[in-house]
Parts: sequence; C-alpha cells; structure tokens
Amino acid sequence: MFDVPVDESLISLSIRELQVPFGLLKYGLRKRYPAQHHFTPSKKLKQHYDVVIIGAGGHGSSIAYYLAKYHGITDVALIDKGYLGGGNTARNTAVIRSNYLTPESVSFYRDSVRLYQGLSNEFDYNIMMENRGQLTLAHSDAAIRNFRWRAEVNKHLGVRSELVDRKTIGEIVPSLSVTEDARFPILAGLWHEDGATARHDAVVWGYARGACQRGVELHQLTEAQGIDIDQGRVVGVHTNRGRIRCAAVVQAVAGASSTVGRMAGLQLPIHSFPLQAMVTQPYKPVLTPHVSSPHVHVYVHQTSRGEFVIGGGSDPYPLYGTRATLEQREKLSGAVLELFPFLAQARVLRQWAGTTDMTPDYSPVMGLSPIKNYYLDAGWGTWGFKATPICGKTMAELVATGRVPDLIKPFELERFYRFEQINEAGSTAASH
Ligand SMILES: Cc1cc2nc3c(=O)[nH]c(=O)nc-3n(C[C@H](O)[C@H](O)[C@H](O)COP(=O)(O)OP(=O)(O)OC[C@H]3O[C@@H](n4cnc5c(N)ncnc54)[C@H](O)[C@@H]3O)c2cc1C
Repeated sequence: MFDVPVDESLISLSIRELQVPFGLLKYGLRKRYPAQHHFTPSKKLKQHYDVVIIGAGGHGSSIAYYLAKYHGITDVALIDKGYLGGGNTARNTAVIRSNYLTPESVSFYRDSVRLYQGLSNEFDYNIMMENRGQLTLAHSDAAIRNFRWRAEVNKHLGVRSELVDRKTIGEIVPSLSVTEDARFPILAGLWHEDGATARHDAVVWGYARGACQRGVELHQLTEAQGIDIDQGRVVGVHTNRGRIRCAAVVQAVAGASSTVGRMAGLQLPIHSFPLQAMVTQPYKPVLTPHVSSPHVHVYVHQTSRGEFVIGGGSDPYPLYGTRATLEQREKLSGAVLELFPFLAQARVLRQWAGTTDMTPDYSPVMGLSPIKNYYLDAGWGTWGFKATPICGKTMAELVATGRVPDLIKPFELERFYRFEQINEAGSTAASH
C-alpha cells in the first residue's frame, strides 16, 4: 500500500547490531556461567546477630568489611532503610585529601589516603582513584598565614603540602584566572600533591562485596526504628522487618545521626544541613587538579568524563530535605566564574543535595557512646568520604577488641564535655 523506498544498508546494519544483544543473551543463559551475586541475595532477617550495623553507606560497609577481614566477625547484619550507598556516599564530590590543620586530623586522614591508594588492588575492583593533586587558594594575608601553618603541620606528619606563589599556581593550573585585576585576586595557594578523587559508588560496592563474600548479610529496605537497651547495654534493634537481638550495634547513618541517636536516648551535638553540588556537560580536558577557594566559597574539578564538578558550603539552615535550589546554583555559578571565567559558556547538566551531619568543630564523632556496645560513627558533615577506609578499619578494631585505637581516640563524643574540640572549620569549609 505504501511505496516507501528501503535503504538496504540500514537492514544489514541492524542485523549486525543485533549480534551483540543476542550474544549476551546466549552467554547469560549458559549454565556454565551462573549469575554471580556481588552482594547477599535478599533473605529473611535472622533473629540474632553478633553485630548490627545501621547504615549501608561507605562507612557501614567499610566497618563490615574490616570486621570480617581482620577480626573474623561475620555474623553481621548491615542494614539500610534505602539501598546500598544511596545516602551521602552516592551524592558526594569524591574529594580525597589529608591537608588538614590539627595533628589529630592530619594523621587520621593521611592514613585514609594511604589505604585508598591500595583499594583497587585489595578489592580486585577498580575504584577509579585519580591522583590529581589539590590546590586551595588564598585571597588574603590571613589565609596565607593559615596555609603556611597547615603546610608545616602537614609536612611534619608526612603529608605532601606546600605554600606556592601565584606564578607557580599559574603553572599548575593554566586555565585558572590569576590576574591581579580580578575581583578577588589570588595571592598564594596551598598545593597538596596527595589530593585525589575516586569513584564513590565503586568504593561502597567494593567494601560491601568484600564483606558479603566473607559472610556478612546486607539487608536493604530495612529501617532501624528503635533501639533496645537493657541496663545500659544495647540488646537489639527494631526494624520495619521485625526485631533483631544483637550483642553490638554501630550507627553509621550520616545525615540521620541525631535521629537514630535519639532512638538510643542519645543527644548528639549534631545538626543536619543540606549540601548541594552540580556538574556541567562534558568538555575536553583542561583541568587536572582539584581547586578550591574558601574565600569565594567554591571548589571545582573536572572528571575523566569531562564534566566540571562544582560545589561549595552547606545551605545556611538545618533541614532534612534534599532538594536543589536555584539560589545555590546561582551562587555556585557566580563563584566559579571568579576563578574560571571560561566556564561562562558551560551548561549545567544536573544539581543535587545530600543531608550532612555537622558538628560544632567540623570534626567527626567516632568511638564509644554512653551505652555499652553501642558505637558511634557520625558527624561526617561535608568531609566523610575521604575517611571511609580508615574509619572502617579503626571502628572495626574498636568493635572487635573493645579498645579505642589511638588514631580515633581524640574524636570521641566525650571531647565535647571536656571542651577539647578539634577545630577544622577553616580547613574544611568549601574544600571538603
Ligand atoms: C553534595 C555533597 C558533597 C560532598 N563532597 C565530599 C567530598 O568531596 N569529600 C568528602 O570527603 N566528603 C564529601 N561529602 C560528605 C560525604 O559524602 C559523607 O560524609 C560520607 O558519604 C558519609 O558516609 P556514610 O557512609 O557515613 O553515610 P551515607 O552514605 O549517607 O550512609 C548512611 C546510610 O544510612 C542509611 N540510614 C539512615 N537512617 C537509617 C535508619 N533509620 N535505618 C537504616 N538505615 C538508615 C541511609 O539510607 C544511608 O544509606 C559530601 C557530601 C555531599 C552531600
């Protein structure tokens, strides 16, 4: 009826194109290649576990992994109200660095960066670690003084960090605007060669896969709704899938730290704020290091896919919502153009938010709680992705042995009652 001319080359092309899906289907149906589960296939919750970890983000998964790997503790339920790595782990901008200010933080994050370096080999799974270096910009004399101090503390503890002048900055990042007539002229910078990024999803998948291979059970869509305490000791967790009895509980729920803590009767010095970020469409590679400016309140790096990842500080009000706002997009866009005017032509591809658990001193809370065998991994705010390996390793040691490792001792909850805070506000801010 319709006399439409047929292009023969299109027919042969589509047959050729079908070869790949048919080949995959054939491969998939072969008995010789049974489907491999990376994680525990969903099964019934048992009535009792040695350890329940609430929160299957990077931290919860990492604790489960090291508990199984180094301490042989595998009777562990790793539970999450959503899906594996769907919290802040899925939303962060993947900055890894150790150039903090206080000796306590520098030593802690230094060991984390070292663990990151070997993770792909350890997991036999590519976490796409990219050693790109990190540059923090100084736009005032006060910032230069602070950077000089940081550089000295860093070097003393084996972290590569140095104060660099404007000329060197221009050589490290040729695409950065270093002119003197800029609105916020760049005076100097803190160059941190150990700065890196890694694929955040791969990190949590690697840890969870390693934990599940050793016998840990991952239970997604399993929400902790109450904590059972008997004579000052934790004895169980109420979930939407029933009650679990257990000998120990770790809470690793980031943005939900104070709400879950409250279920155990704890009032934590933590408030939750939204943190937003955005990415542009992909462009050809022009920016290798991660660049941040606490003064202009923005940070940026370019992924290997070519997208510019742009972020800044948290929203200024506490909230559990994860909506992205036009106001923040305008702020971030304006700020990033101060540093990289050529981005004026770039188009924003997407924008998102997470809920960050902020402490008064911008440092985490790790370790014991007033409840026996109830352990805290909280207060990770805008900076916890980089801590995933070392936090997991040290927290696992604590749960297994009952002894607080020296590396995390300064970060215990008690510090707020002793007024021994670890102030990292200046070195966290917009640098993450
Ligand atoms: C936009 C953004 C950018 C960031 N950039 C960086 C960065 O560049 N570098 C850096 O180091 N850090 C960064 N961070 C911070 C970092 O993402 C977090 O500190 C880190 O991911 C925390 O990991 P986690 O495993 O503790 O938490 P999450 O990954 O949030 O995991 C917690 C899990 O707990 C679950 N949960 C909550 N309540 C319950 C409950 N009642 N029962 C069961 N499960 C529950 C959640 O579903 C979630 O999956 C950023 C954060 C955001 C939002």
